[in-house]
Amino acid sequence: MPRATGPTLPDTLPGAPPRPDAVDFERVRERALGAYLGLAVGDALGATTEFMIPAEIRARHGVHQNMTGGGWLHLKPGQITDDTQMSLALGNALLEAGGMDPHCVARHYLAWMAAKPVDIGHTVRRGLVRYRALGTVEAAYSPHAAGNGGAMRNLPVVLATLGDRAAFVEWSLAQARVTHNHPEADAGTLLLGDLTRQALLLGGEAPVQTLIRTWTEAFPAFDPRRFRGETDGYVVHTARTVLHFFTNTFDFESCLVATVNQGGDADTNGALAGALAGAFYGPDAIPGRWLKRLDPNARRAIEGQVDALLERFPPCPRRAVTPAGSP
Ligand SMILES: [Mg+2]
Repeated sequence: MPRATGPTLPDTLPGAPPRPDAVDFERVRERALGAYLGLAVGDALGATTEFMIPAEIRARHGVHQNMTGGGWLHLKPGQITDDTQMSLALGNALLEAGGMDPHCVARHYLAWMAAKPVDIGHTVRRGLVRYRALGTVEAAYSPHAAGNGGAMRNLPVVLATLGDRAAFVEWSLAQARVTHNHPEADAGTLLLGDLTRQALLLGGEAPVQTLIRTWTEAFPAFDPRRFRGETDGYVVHTARTVLHFFTNTFDFESCLVATVNQGGDADTNGALAGALAGAFYGPDAIPGRWLKRLDPNARRAIEGQVDALLERFPPCPRRAVTPAGSP
């Protein structure tokens, strides 16, 4: 399969090694919930401003900061789109197969497409049509496959591989390449997944700036200092946008509001910023007015899947509970 220009993945993943000794199961569970609810909230919030430019958003909404639905897809307030739905499909595939089986993942993606989702990206559709026709689980390399579709749905893999960094890399690439085969798509999926992974393990202690520096030394294009407001679905622009707003804000709400008011691919940018910020700041940082409006079926599915993934793929040993009355 031809591999054209673009960065190749390093042998070892840049960034800090995981610190399983510093991991507390209950804290990780909380942060995992924060990340997944953050993903869905960012998706639903951003869908309103998808494909708009900042001036249009200002003219129509002032500052877009409430779950109003609408947008080009005419959504209900709190309605989620492909970003959250494909994540749930991936998580269900991991649970069904008990690990990474790309055929199982592709079948779940295909079932999602067959149910006529409200939105689907071009590269995703092309990849799933190929799987349906040929049964191959890896898309052929395409210079047009550097989109953010693999990155946007990768959170369940991150949650299922918290205890195993090699599996994180392998499973992330396996699920992403069902539809996207491009070195930048690979790198963006791993970069955003790795940052979220470290935030899940270490919360607000995660050395985000160091990680971003290390990652962008290996992949300079992703450096958020190069952010110039481009918010199309190109994974390099997606990563820059998410990292720019995450590193220039100080809480979950301001990170998400800034991200979605940039418009463009606002639902995916919102979803990825929401997952990272939700892991970093925790679920209590997500504004209640957003959670209240979030589609209740999506919320239930997320809560169930977080517990199921962490139960099936434990990030660390659970602490022994000291029996009552013991010294
Ligand atoms: Mg979407």
